[in-house]
Amino acid sequence: MKSLNQKSILVTGGSGFIGSHLCENLLSSGNNVICVDNLFSSNKNNINSLINNKNFEFYRHDITFPLYLEVNQIFNFACPASPIHYQYDPVQTLKTSIHGSINMLGLAKRTNSKIFQASTSEVYGDPEISPQSESYTGKVNTLGPRACYDEGKRAAETLFFDYYRQHKLDIRIARIFNTYGPRMHPNDGRVVSNFICQAIKGDDITIYGNGNQTRSFCYIDDLIESIVKIMNTPNITGPINIGNPQEITIIELAKKILDLTNSKSNIIFKKLPEDDPKVRCPDISLAKKIIDWEPKITLDEGLTKTIKYFRSLLN
Ligand code: UDP
Repeated sequence: MKSLNQKSILVTGGSGFIGSHLCENLLSSGNNVICVDNLFSSNKNNINSLINNKNFEFYRHDITFPLYLEVNQIFNFACPASPIHYQYDPVQTLKTSIHGSINMLGLAKRTNSKIFQASTSEVYGDPEISPQSESYTGKVNTLGPRACYDEGKRAAETLFFDYYRQHKLDIRIARIFNTYGPRMHPNDGRVVSNFICQAIKGDDITIYGNGNQTRSFCYIDDLIESIVKIMNTPNITGPINIGNPQEITIIELAKKILDLTNSKSNIIFKKLPEDDPKVRCPDISLAKKIIDWEPKITLDEGLTKTIKYFRSLLN
């Protein structure tokens, strides 16, 4: 039987890359965790080690349909997040962010639960300023191939704020910048997983464009620590940027991965996808100030752990 102070926490997208690490962390703090996922872009293997935990439940469910549960907290992480996955069925991607958020906000309202939205640096689009702080309103092409994700996540932020103002819901919004680590999907087309898998297999390293575009990569353990801190900090709403401000060009990243994997793969250049942001770097002063957080794991350390994971997966 559940003890009186044990929380029931719903994690949507709980068997995805970030969601599964979050479920693990919440279970280790003694909570009951309900993981909901439609398994569209995630893998049930991610939750293999949790499935026998008596405090863990898994439901295969698509949050674009209503969900009736009794919970105390909700983390809304459901949405395909890599460009190839979210562009595969753009209408469903928008529905997940919009109908999904409406359903989860309705559930939070009925159960009087605190609710966390996994937002994204993509709300800044192809930014004109760098680093990006939370006050920057972004430059997103409403008609482009990334819009189904970017505009969906922007609309979700709007919904969260309207439920906060209109219904006094206790909300948290984090804008998550590029994150990497074990349990990334090997075929999700993201730069870290692509480069590591290519380097391990001796395949060509595919750089899109000239490789001078930048990204800033945060290791999964640092991200999870910040998410839990944001949820547990009273009287804040966000949005709060979460990411590692160490910025790197994609070509530098390719060279670093070749070096760390000791690979002889060649670098080749391919067409840059439409609307691919030229820069991306978080200003994390707000996170430092209000949740006393900054990432601790360097890119070299994090990549080494991620390479180890992909070697075990591919061998
Ligand atoms: N990228 C690349 N080669 C790849 C995959 C991605 O050069 O095999 C580039 C991509 O064009 C982008 C950056 O790496 O500029 C990050 O891409 P990712 O899909 O990981 O994330 P996002 O664009 O959403 O930040």
